[in-house]
Amino acid sequence: MLNKVLVANRGEIAVRIVRACRDLGIGSVVAYSEADRNTLAVRLADESICIGPAAPSKSYLHPPALISAALITGCDAVHPGYGFLSENPYFAEACAQCNLVFIGPEPEPIRLMGDKSIGRQTMNAAGVPTVPGSEGELSSIDEAISLAREIGYPVLLKPSAGGGGRGMRVARDESELQRAYPTARAEAEGAFGRGDLILEKYLPSVRHVEIQVLADHHGNAIHLGERDCSSQRRHQKIIEEAPSPIVNAELRAKMGEDAVRGIQAIGYRNAGTLEFLMDEQGNYYFIEMNTRIQVEHPVTELITGIDLVKWQLLVASGERLTLEQKDVRIRGHAVECRINAEDPERDFLPSVGEIELFVPPGGPGVRVDTHLYSGYKLPGSYDSLMAKIITWGDDRNEALDRMRRALNECILEGSVKSTIPFQLALIDDPAFRSGNISIHYVGEFMQKWKEREAVVA
Ligand code: ADP
Repeated sequence: MLNKVLVANRGEIAVRIVRACRDLGIGSVVAYSEADRNTLAVRLADESICIGPAAPSKSYLHPPALISAALITGCDAVHPGYGFLSENPYFAEACAQCNLVFIGPEPEPIRLMGDKSIGRQTMNAAGVPTVPGSEGELSSIDEAISLAREIGYPVLLKPSAGGGGRGMRVARDESELQRAYPTARAEAEGAFGRGDLILEKYLPSVRHVEIQVLADHHGNAIHLGERDCSSQRRHQKIIEEAPSPIVNAELRAKMGEDAVRGIQAIGYRNAGTLEFLMDEQGNYYFIEMNTRIQVEHPVTELITGIDLVKWQLLVASGERLTLEQKDVRIRGHAVECRINAEDPERDFLPSVGEIELFVPPGGPGVRVDTHLYSGYKLPGSYDSLMAKIITWGDDRNEALDRMRRALNECILEGSVKSTIPFQLALIDDPAFRSGNISIHYVGEFMQKWKEREAVVA
């Protein structure tokens, strides 16, 4: 078993990892930047160590600072969380070279899945359906045009190295594609340091459905069913749920088998997620794989009773998966709201300041993963996620009713704005309640919400 883990991350996920370490009797050391000196994970961990200034490039994104922090404090492993260096194959490799266990897959599967073009090709070869589109990276605009003629408009240009929903462009006809291609290349170059693009058929009214997988170092691999993340704003998830309202047991088993075959083809170990788009007929198409724990992992934990972060630590320790596919049983329904420090009234403008009073919701079926406490000052340098409120119910309606109660109960006083008012309106919208929504639903709802505000004003 691992002895001591360096938590190479911040915010709520750092707290989550510290808790999993404690449950397993593993020591934890939180690496923090100067801006995070007072963060909750630092208070809760066994030890903590400063790794540099607030700027992520000098702390959470700086491998030498993290690796030396792990070595100085006598850690034998590093948990990268999500974001930052979690999907960086060089960091995984550097950890291994310094005799530190990287809690995640090997560098090679990270590298393969970190590139959307290679990811598509690899999954295709393993028999996992992908969105119709380019075989590899586009070599020229002419190739993009002839491919688009073949598969039909609309098409989507995506940075091959992309992430976080950034830099994607839809083209509805050839002239739009001609205009979009150079801009998309320049944007990708600016955001990811690489201008390479892939082209996919733009699927008009699909859902985002992803499969959680878990594999050990002894050849065992299982899936833990799906999460539905169709509620997105500008391709960023804001509400996630499990199971998906449109996936039945048969479809779940089929997707799960595909996902497990896909990860076995790349020698994948630890927890990971394969993301798919799904149409109304239940056809699904792989879009990308995240080779790390995801923000929305708690909804899977609540419906399966399986602690994913604990399993990440066990697998990294070399333990065998004692769970078999037949042990994964789904019970009830879970929903997660990402509570961001953003002002929904001002187009989700990021908000910073002090949390004067924070009282999290509770009661039956409510879990809150957060690093907030009363008197905490949100540093401006990082992403806006303040808390995740997750509710469970016997069925979807009960989970959503409990979410309404939890959001209403949550006391968050101070100058910081949150997404709660928007999410409260969203979960009671009849279209959302019906479960029959696509990835465009939140954008459309937002329009209605703004107009309603205008009428009230
Ligand atoms: P990123 O890695 O930047 O998050 P993804 O490939 O995961 O990019 O896509 C993010 C979101 O963009 C998806 O959840 C979906 O809403 C939308 N999207 C991606 N590919 C397509 C497509 N081919 N057609 C329609 N929407 C898409």
